[in-house]
Order: sequence, then C-alpha cells, then structure tokens
Amino acid sequence: MKRIKTNQIIVVAIFIFGTIWNQNSFGAPKNNSQTPNFIIIFADDMGYGDMGTFGHPTIKTPHLDRLAFEGQKWTNFYVAAPVCTPSRAGLMTGRLPIRSGMCSEKRRVLFPDSNGGLPENEITIATALKGAGYSTACIGKWHLGHHSQFLPGNHGFDYYFGIPYSNDMDRIDGPDAQVALTHPKIDYFNVPLMRNNEIVERPADQTTITKRYTREAINFIQQNKEKPFFLYLAHSMPHMPLFRSKEFENTSLRGIYGDVIQELDWSVGKIVNTLKETGLDKNTIVVFTSDNGPWLIFREQGGSAGLLSGGKGGTYEGGMREPTIFWSPEIIQPGVIAELGTTMDLLPTFAKLANVTLPNDRVYDGYDIFPVLSGTGHSKREVVFYYRGTEIFAVRKGAYKAHFITQPEYGSNIKTIQDPPLLFNLNVDPSEKYNIAEEHPEVIEKIKQVLAEHLQTVISVENQLEK
Ligand code: MG
Repeated sequence: MKRIKTNQIIVVAIFIFGTIWNQNSFGAPKNNSQTPNFIIIFADDMGYGDMGTFGHPTIKTPHLDRLAFEGQKWTNFYVAAPVCTPSRAGLMTGRLPIRSGMCSEKRRVLFPDSNGGLPENEITIATALKGAGYSTACIGKWHLGHHSQFLPGNHGFDYYFGIPYSNDMDRIDGPDAQVALTHPKIDYFNVPLMRNNEIVERPADQTTITKRYTREAINFIQQNKEKPFFLYLAHSMPHMPLFRSKEFENTSLRGIYGDVIQELDWSVGKIVNTLKETGLDKNTIVVFTSDNGPWLIFREQGGSAGLLSGGKGGTYEGGMREPTIFWSPEIIQPGVIAELGTTMDLLPTFAKLANVTLPNDRVYDGYDIFPVLSGTGHSKREVVFYYRGTEIFAVRKGAYKAHFITQPEYGSNIKTIQDPPLLFNLNVDPSEKYNIAEEHPEVIEKIKQVLAEHLQTVISVENQLEK
C-alpha cells in the first residue's frame, strides 16, 4: 500500500514538473498531436521605418509593437527582390526568383497583359504544407500570375480571396497616372476582386478591402480551429493608390499613409484576438513583414525606410530590408534579433516544423531559422544577394555589403558599374554612408568569391515576366 502511494506521488511530481517545464521553455511546439499553424501577414511597399517599434515617430502601431515585444523583432530581415512579383516568388518557393524565371529587367513585375506566372513545378509553402494535411488560404494580393493555371488554387491553396495583381493596374481613362495615383478614386483602377477562380467584384472597392481581407482571414481561422492551417494574408496596402475605410480617415498625424498603416495594425490586432479567443495562440506562428521597401517617388504618400537609404525598386538597404516580427507566445523566445534572415527562410522553417521533407531535386536559397526563433541556436545565413531583375547588384556577407552595380530605383536606366565596388559595414553604418572599400580589399575579395560560387548554381530558365 505504502509502495503504491510513493509511486503515485512520483507520477504526480513528474507531471507537475513536466507542466512547469513546458510552460517555461520555448522550443518544440507543445501539442505533439498537431503541428503548428502558420500565418504570414505581408504588407505591400511598407518601409523599414513605418512602424512604431521600428522608429516611426507618428504612425501608431500598438498591435504590431506588442507582437514585437512579446515575440522577436528582426532588424536584418530581407526579401528576395525589391519589387512585388519576384519578392513574392522568393517567399513562396524558398528560392531566388532567378531560379523560377520570375524576374526581369524589362518588365520588373507581372502586368495584366502578361502571359507568364509561377511555374507549375515550383513547390510553394502552401503546396508543401497541404501535403502534410494543412488547410491553406491566400487572402489578398497574389501577383504570381493571373491566368488560371497560375492562380493560388493551382499552387496549393484551398481558398483564395483577393486581387490577382497590384491595385494600381488596369487603370482606365481618366486623369493622368500621377493624379490618378495621388488623388485616387475606386473607378480609376479596374482591378478585379476574386474568390477562387471567379471575379466577384470589378473594380474592387479598395476602401473596404483591408476590412474584408481581415474578415475573411478571421473566418478561415475559425473554420480551422481543429486542424492545422496556413494563412497567407497579403494586404494590397500600403501600395499606391492608398485607400482606407471611413473609420480610419484622418486618424493619423502622418496623413493618409499613416491612416492606411494604422488600419493594417488594427487588422493585426483583430487576427491576434481571434487566435487568443480560440486558444490557437498557443500553437500558431505569426510572421509580419513587407514585400519591398517604400515607394519613394510618391513622396509623402510613399512610406519611409527610416535610417536606411533607398527604397522600393533599388538595392540599397531600404529596398530590401523589411520591418519583421515573429510571434508565438509559447514557441518563440522573445528578443531583438540582428542575425540575418530572409523571406526565403520561411519555407524550410515551416516545412521542418510541419515534418515535411522537401524534395532535393532543386536548389533552395532558404535556411531553417527555427533555432533562432526558439532561442536555441544561430542563423545559418551569412549571405544576402541583392538582385535587381536578373542581375546581382550587391552582396552582403556578415556585416559587410559590396555594391557592384548601382542605379536609381526608378526613372533612370543608367547603371553605374562600381569598380572597385562600394563597401559598407552595415552593423556600424546601416545607412550606407561611408565607403570603406579602400581599407578592406580582402573583404571585397571574399565577397567576390561568394558571388562567383553562387553564380555557378544559377541555370537559365524560361523568363515568365517577359512572356
Ligand atoms: Mg510591393
């Protein structure tokens, strides 16, 4: 009898210890019966400096700031390209867009008259996770091909609600482009809104679009309480032309751009509340980032890269370094992370967590960054390639970045070959102001070697943007 009691006490003690240990440790998701859910919230053209926690003095983003505080704020996180289509191809496939033919100098993104799109044989995050039993939804801007064979439904998504390309496309007769974009009306842009493969509204009412994406996202989360899911919520905002709903008009000291970001922040809050109400916050990883830097030619209506130079379209830091947050209270170790990461790291990281083995018949450009997210290790990434179209303009290795070619973001085709390359120490000089090439020829040599090795892995494929 006494022996049984002792055993029972030991069992209870192990249980209590195990519970406390689980509550206090980060790392492997707790509920082994279900792999984690993933939500990527992708802003369009939001700059590195457009969020409270990344230093904006007047745009209020309390929900994002809170996620950054409770989760990880990444200060050296990049996208695969400085414009929409190739950046999205990189995120979805874990591969540089040069490998899928989704980049070009001639046509930097897909347009309504384009015939190409993300090739069928590319494995997207959705395809990979769907194979592991995940429900998958793409809500928002796609921009990886609007012909039916390229739409989200043919790339692993069970559900799609959104616009197939940018919100400034399909412009109809009316004022000239500059006026239409800076004093926009819904009718100026005949962009379709789609549900799965059907057009359900045209032109899309962009004033309510952020709200409707949010509602769709919440419905999807609620419908999938019991099974693992992947939600890709790619907002159309703050890409020009800017629209926000009535409730957000004139709410920000930063003007209409600030109103738009504050509505996105509201949306983040709604989604996180849904996760908390359903208890899914315990087993869901939320990532927030942007597809490229701010569109500077639109001045006050474009965003800000904060202390970074350059913006959308270019290969200075402001074009490709994004304000990035990872949040999951029981999985992610809170902190500010200055290690290198990119959107291409999401596919291998999610695949690992979902127990998906990716086929080894192709080159991936991403790394599993879960050791950093869980606070158990470092990022394997040492190098970032800054592609503009199909060409590499700059390479970062560790703290150092060499610019081999420079060119204004928009408005000029004049490329300047930098020989010797410009060299910046980004840890010391994130604004890329002080060229230290003369002091560090050995660093330039090492970076040249990395570049030459990388180019060996690039094989020519059909260009999808020029079709
Ligand atoms: Mg964009």
